[in-house]
Amino acid sequence: MTVASVTDFEVAILGAGMSGLCMAIQLQRAGITDFVMLEKSAGLGGTWWDNRYPGAQVDVPAPAYSFSFAPNPDWTHRFADAAEIQHYQQRLAEQHGLPARMRLGVAITEAKFDAEAGRWQLLLDNGERISARFFACSTGALSVGRWPDIPGLADFRGRLLHSARWPHGADLCEQRVGVIGTGSTAAQLVPALAPEVAKLTVFQRTANWVMPRVDRRYGRLDRWLHRVPGYAPLTRRAWVQVLEWGRRGFDEGTLARRLIMAAAASHLRRGVPDAALRERLTPHYPLGCKRIIYSNDYYPALARPQTELVTAAITRVTPRGVLTDDGREHVLDALVCATGFDTIRPLAGVRIEGLGGRLLADAWRDGAQAYLGVSVAGLPNFFLMLGPNTATGHTSTLLYIEPQVQHAIACMQRVRREGRRWITVKPEVAAAHDTAQQRRLATSVWSQCRSWYRADNGRIVAIWPGFTPEYVKAVRRPDPAAYALG
Ligand code: NAP
Repeated sequence: MTVASVTDFEVAILGAGMSGLCMAIQLQRAGITDFVMLEKSAGLGGTWWDNRYPGAQVDVPAPAYSFSFAPNPDWTHRFADAAEIQHYQQRLAEQHGLPARMRLGVAITEAKFDAEAGRWQLLLDNGERISARFFACSTGALSVGRWPDIPGLADFRGRLLHSARWPHGADLCEQRVGVIGTGSTAAQLVPALAPEVAKLTVFQRTANWVMPRVDRRYGRLDRWLHRVPGYAPLTRRAWVQVLEWGRRGFDEGTLARRLIMAAAASHLRRGVPDAALRERLTPHYPLGCKRIIYSNDYYPALARPQTELVTAAITRVTPRGVLTDDGREHVLDALVCATGFDTIRPLAGVRIEGLGGRLLADAWRDGAQAYLGVSVAGLPNFFLMLGPNTATGHTSTLLYIEPQVQHAIACMQRVRREGRRWITVKPEVAAAHDTAQQRRLATSVWSQCRSWYRADNGRIVAIWPGFTPEYVKAVRRPDPAAYALG
C-alpha cells in the first residue's frame, strides 16, 4: 500500500527539515512506524532546502551540526554550506527509508482535534484529509520569509527577490543590486554578490556585531579520523563545549563577554580601514541582543569600491529603486530582501483547533508560548519542535531538537501504554513555566533591542534564556505530573 492511499496514521509530522527528520528517525527507533511526513516545499531539508541564496552556510561547526546518532565523516569544511547540509539530510532520509513516507509539495491548512476519537483531523491544501493520533509540528522558527513593511515594495519594476526563496539559477551578474538587511543572511549574501554585480547597494538599518569565522577545509586526514570509532563524538562534544562557553558572553560582567567584544572590535578595525565607514558599521546595542554574525568576508565586501553602504533610512521603494530620507533615489535592476523570517506568528498559515474549539491563533494572540517549547495547553497529542523560546544565539539547534523529540515520543508512548486517548500539558503548569521564563528574559540582554527573538509588544518569544544543559535536563524526560490524560 502506498502512503498516498492511506489517510489514517499514528503520527503526522509537519515539515521535513532537521526536526522532522529527527522525529521520523526516532519514531522508528521507538517502534512507531505508522507516520507520514508532510512538507510544503518540493524537496526535503526545511531551511536548507529553502535558503539557497548565494553564500548560504551554517555558522555552527559541522560536527555540532550533525545529529549525535548520525555523525557525518564527509563534511568538506568546518562550516558546511546549504547544499552540503541538504545532502546530509537527504542521505539520512534515504538511510532510514523516509522518502517513501514523505509527501512533498503539500501544506496543511487546517488541523482540528477530535476529543472523542482522540485524533487530529488534518486538511491539506489539495483538499485531501488525513487523520492522525499525534501531530508533530516540526516547522521551526525560520520557515516563513518576512517581507519588509516598506511602502511601494509592490511597485518596484525591477527584479524583487527574498533571500529565503532564492530562485534556482538567479543571475544578477552585471546588474545594479540592492540588498535590504544586514543580519546573518545578508552577511553571507553580500560577499557572494559583491564580485558578480555591477553595483551593490546595502541598506543598513542597524549595524551588527561581527566575529571572525574560524573556518577550515576538512582534508583526507580529517575524513579518516572521523571514521575512527570515538573520534566523531569526541569532536562533537568538544565543539559543543566551546559553543556553550560563548553563551556566557550574553551575560553582563563576564570574561567571555569582554573577550568576544574585544575580538569583534578588532575584527572591525582590521576589516574596515576607512574610519568613517567603520563608524557606520559600529553596533550600538548590547552584544548578543541580536544574533552575532560570523564572517571574514562581509567587511571586505562592504569596503569594495562597487559596494555602497547606505545608512540613511528607507522612505519607500519606487518603481526604479529605493528612496532614502536624504532625498536620494538609488536606481536598481534588482532588489533583494534579506529581511528574515516571520518568527512571531509561527504556524500562522494553519488553522489549529484544540479542545473546546480553542484556536492556537487566539492562544498566541499576544505571542507564541509553549511548555518547554513543546506542548501547548488545550492542544492534546500536539508537539512542537523548535517551538517558542527554544532558539539560541550561541549553539546548534540540533542540541535542542533531539531532547524535544525524546519528550514528545515519551508522551506518545504514555498514551499508548496507558490506553488513553490523549495527553495535554496542564494549563497551570504551562502558565507557571511561561511566567518564570518571561521573568528571566525581562532582565536579559534580549530585552534590550529589536530582533526576531521579540514581538512588537516586547515579549521575547523565540529565545531560551539559559544554557543548553539546563534545557536538555528539563525537557528530555517529561514530568508525568505536568501532563493530564484524557
Ligand atoms: P534577521 O536577523 O531578522 O535580519 C533581518 C535584517 O533585515 C535586519 O538587518 C533588519 O534590520 C533588516 N530589516 C527588516 N525589515 C526592515 C525594514 N523594513 N527596513 C530596513 N531593514 C529591515 O534575518 P536573517 O539575516 O535572515 O537571519 C535570521 C536568522 O536565521 C539568524 O539570526 C540565524 O538564526 C538564521 N541564519 C543563520 C545563518 C547561519 O547559520 N549562518 C544564516 C542565515 C540565517 P534591523 O536589525 O534594524 O531590524
